[in-house]
Amino acid sequence: MKFKHEDGLLRFGRLCEPAKHLAHEMNWYFVKEGYDFIITESVTTEEEDKKVGRKSDSHRTFRAFDVRLKHIPKEKLKEFVKNLKEYFNKNFGSWGARVPRSDGSVDVVLIYDHGRGDNYHIHCQVRRDYSKIEIPKENVQ
Ligand SMILES: [Zn+2]
Repeated sequence: MKFKHEDGLLRFGRLCEPAKHLAHEMNWYFVKEGYDFIITESVTTEEEDKKVGRKSDSHRTFRAFDVRLKHIPKEKLKEFVKNLKEYFNKNFGSWGARVPRSDGSVDVVLIYDHGRGDNYHIHCQVRRDYSKIEIPKENVQ
């Protein structure tokens, strides 16, 4: 498991347990496929969310992390993401924070691209009731 930011491991430690568990499972999944597993964001502050225009509070409520995809070869990305989503949504879907689909299933792994269509990353988030109840004002220090 690697981190984009210098304080990545410190922030990662603050995630709720189900999110950490998912990250470890996903690390294993990436390594098995021969790719580095790089967390680009985990716990954030309200200020940081505002700065990047992040609307969801999932990062600052200790229940979401982002994973880099840009090192996966373009020709392999579609298949890799499809299989990964299938695996995690099948095995951990009930941990997901998304509104359930009509068949009752829920996604725990989402793919975002920052609206540019070329900058995909994984956003993994768990249920709101898994987040830590008390959110300190300054949750990074
Ligand atoms: Zn995210």
